[in-house]
Amino acid sequence: MRTVIFSALLAIGFAAPGHAAGLSPEQAKAREIFARVIAFKTEVGQGQVPVMAKYLADEFKAAGFTAEDIHILPLRETASLVVRYRGDGRSHKKPILWMAHMDVVTAKPEDWQRDPFTLIEENGYFYGRGTQDIKSGVALIATNFLRLKREHFVPHRDLVIVFSGDEETEMATIEDLVKNHRDLVDAEFAMNSDGGGGTLGEDGKPKIYGLQTAEKTYASFEVTVRNPGGHSSLPRADNAIYELADALKKIQAYRFPVMWSETTLAYLKASGAATPGPVGEAMQRFAANPHDEAAAEVLNATPAEVGKTRTTCIPTLLRGGHAENALPQSATATINCRIFPGVAVADVGKTLAGLVGDKVEVKVIGSPASSDASPLRADVMAAVTREVHAMHPGVQIVPVQDSGASDGLYLRAAGIPTYGVSGMFIKDSDSFLHGLNERVPVRGYYDEMDYWYRLMKDLGGH
Ligand SMILES: [Zn+2]
Repeated sequence: MRTVIFSALLAIGFAAPGHAAGLSPEQAKAREIFARVIAFKTEVGQGQVPVMAKYLADEFKAAGFTAEDIHILPLRETASLVVRYRGDGRSHKKPILWMAHMDVVTAKPEDWQRDPFTLIEENGYFYGRGTQDIKSGVALIATNFLRLKREHFVPHRDLVIVFSGDEETEMATIEDLVKNHRDLVDAEFAMNSDGGGGTLGEDGKPKIYGLQTAEKTYASFEVTVRNPGGHSSLPRADNAIYELADALKKIQAYRFPVMWSETTLAYLKASGAATPGPVGEAMQRFAANPHDEAAAEVLNATPAEVGKTRTTCIPTLLRGGHAENALPQSATATINCRIFPGVAVADVGKTLAGLVGDKVEVKVIGSPASSDASPLRADVMAAVTREVHAMHPGVQIVPVQDSGASDGLYLRAAGIPTYGVSGMFIKDSDSFLHGLNERVPVRGYYDEMDYWYRLMKDLGGH
């Protein structure tokens, strides 16, 4: 009895303002954890990720996870959290990872209509930094581990939570896990809450579900021309700015070859059927025959689709010269590339260098990681389809390749196929991730809670 009273008090103590009545115990717990994690200011530089990891670790401990299965792995000012849910090993298969990241994009409270670090429920939405990206994933995956434990569920293989700590900035924590703690995160495949998900139409009806299997590599290059320079009253034939301009025109004129994967073909087929006009027709024609050059041309001229079928590189920044009355000693452009999965960053650098010639330097910025697309595994496709349909019967499931890059990239590169399988359905007009007044629909949040629960039992039971 004392325990009951105690936990009831805790629940009241942690409840966020505007607490909705009539929640099930699971929903109340999912809401409590959501409110707690939103309140940690896990922006870069705040040092709050380890504090949040400790809070979650204590929740797992209280639920009966042993200390040897809970790992907080500090890295500089941040940390990752890895929690192993032991199975009985009956399936003789490697573990499944369940992923999210604990950090958020910086939010300036003065620009927001509500405090970004307080979970606020209003008009059917949960507001707060990280509600969509991706503290909802953190809270729901954690809640379900606690719930399954309480229900004495025993999976047939280990299930492992991997919450990273700097996905929005350096991605050093996931790199650290893969390189230095492989034993903790080794797995057959990973289910990532930070990718994929459903779209609601403006009428609130589910339209389509995207299952993310691939991410393009993000890499930038600096293209630089150097020159001895001199006084601007004594112009010479060679000039760093002219020569950089010539180099950029060559990059502009070049097109990387058309490419495809089983994911992009499945995406173009399904999306093409739902896209009216010549673009939709071209998508379907390309899906049926990726050698159809006319179809590729149409996609190439469509900003939303061009990146689906090839690597793209465009100039995004420019600097050069040092004085109004001096010949420039250098001129540099930053070229941002979105590289098709499976293509090496170095090969793109070589292509750029070949285009601009020997007199122009081409240097990659940093050390970008690249990865292949994950295969459309039958078990994953079937389980996600089942559980999405349990939530929204009949909605079309489409494999997608994102043009951005997340933690999944590092796992894929390390040979662990990774699937972005968020259970959130949201309208495009409600999507403010990384922006102001980030929010998710309350109904979508609780639906997603049940989705993860079923998905963990579904995949974990095999
Ligand atoms: Zn994210």
